[in-house]
Amino acid sequence: MGAYNQFILLSIRADTYFYLAQNRFFYCFISLLAAVVLFKETEVDLTVMNYYQLLEEDIRFQDGLAACLNCGVCTAICPAAEFCDYDPRKLMIMVQSRNPDELETLLKSDYIWNCGQCMSCKTRCPRGNTPGMVIQALRKVSQETGLFVHSEKGRQQLRIKRAVGHNILQYGFCVHPDILEPEQHPEQGPVWEWVYENREEVYKRLHANIYEEGAGALRKIDAESMQELRDIFRETGGEQLLQMIEYYASE
Ligand code: SF4
Ligand code: SF4
Repeated sequence: MGAYNQFILLSIRADTYFYLAQNRFFYCFISLLAAVVLFKETEVDLTVMNYYQLLEEDIRFQDGLAACLNCGVCTAICPAAEFCDYDPRKLMIMVQSRNPDELETLLKSDYIWNCGQCMSCKTRCPRGNTPGMVIQALRKVSQETGLFVHSEKGRQQLRIKRAVGHNILQYGFCVHPDILEPEQHPEQGPVWEWVYENREEVYKRLHANIYEEGAGALRKIDAESMQELRDIFRETGGEQLLQMIEYYASE
């Protein structure tokens, strides 16, 4: 059973125990019934063919893969193909095959994390496909299903989520000088440490508006804008995706 489905079932089981403890047997029965129905649906979800259906639901996939003729033009322009174990043409073949085993292997692999998202492929494809956008959809499905934990680069998503994801919701910036602690970045050497310790003065000399309200780089993001950011994450499913990454990676 997929880990996220286990997560749902565990939630229902928690409800069941809650109702049992309160002698609310009718609600307990309903909760158990819901668990059985969900379990049955989970069995259907486990047919790997659903991975393709999940992909098809993503607008980036719909837009990124119309009909690939496997000409290889995208591979010729792709910088990732030059330096990594990655080939957008092969990727498109694998996805188009709809082969359940191949799709699952892909979703579990480092392969989908090698694309650099430069979108050069978009400019060249004679069929108007964008392998880079197909990659975006694959990454999302890999995260939603928990398959990303099977690959090294996939597991790095947790680190990125805890860094960039957390920073955006905490500071309103992907990276903020406050979190660039020298002990986390020993490779930067003593100059970095000095900049970190004197960051307020240094950034002000560079005309940043650090910690201050109003306009300017590194300004303090006001409470209303921060709330808006959190609302966007919640409404678009970003918040849920971050929770899923945390949940699967902690298993
Ligand atoms: S995605 Fe486009 S450029 Fe790449 S192999 Fe397919 S048709 Fe050719
Ligand atoms: S977006 Fe990805 S697949 Fe497309 S050219 Fe860039 S690295 Fe290659």
